[in-house]
Amino acid sequence: MIIAIDFDGTCVTHEYPKIGKDIGAVPVLKRLVSQGHKLILFTMRDDKIKKPKDPTERIKLEEYLQEAVEWFGANAIPLFGIQLNPGQKHWTTSNKCYAELYIDDAALGCPIKYDLNIAERPFVDWEAVERLLIEKQILR
Ligand SMILES: [Mg+2]
Repeated sequence: MIIAIDFDGTCVTHEYPKIGKDIGAVPVLKRLVSQGHKLILFTMRDDKIKKPKDPTERIKLEEYLQEAVEWFGANAIPLFGIQLNPGQKHWTTSNKCYAELYIDDAALGCPIKYDLNIAERPFVDWEAVERLLIEKQILR
């Protein structure tokens, strides 16, 4: 199955532009990949050149998307795509990433956890997501 995964609040706590804390996504994502599922990182993060207001200051490169991609690399979780399904350009010009399942803390029905000791904003409850994936026979 092709699964699109949000990053902030989903893979880690919300700390944009920093990389948030571990919330238990890694073992579940690894298990999905090991069972043949393909993951697409689908996030509002981007990379951009930020021009300073003062022209004497250096141009800053903001690689917030790249940092999320590197999080997957550092956790040895291969990505099938970044922001888009690599195959979709052959059949659509849509900007929506084609996936069969979306895991996103902002999605209706996504199990969410509130724990002010970990983060100020709610984040994905990966134990509950794992149970749902098993229940729906996506994970064995
Ligand atoms: Mg999010």
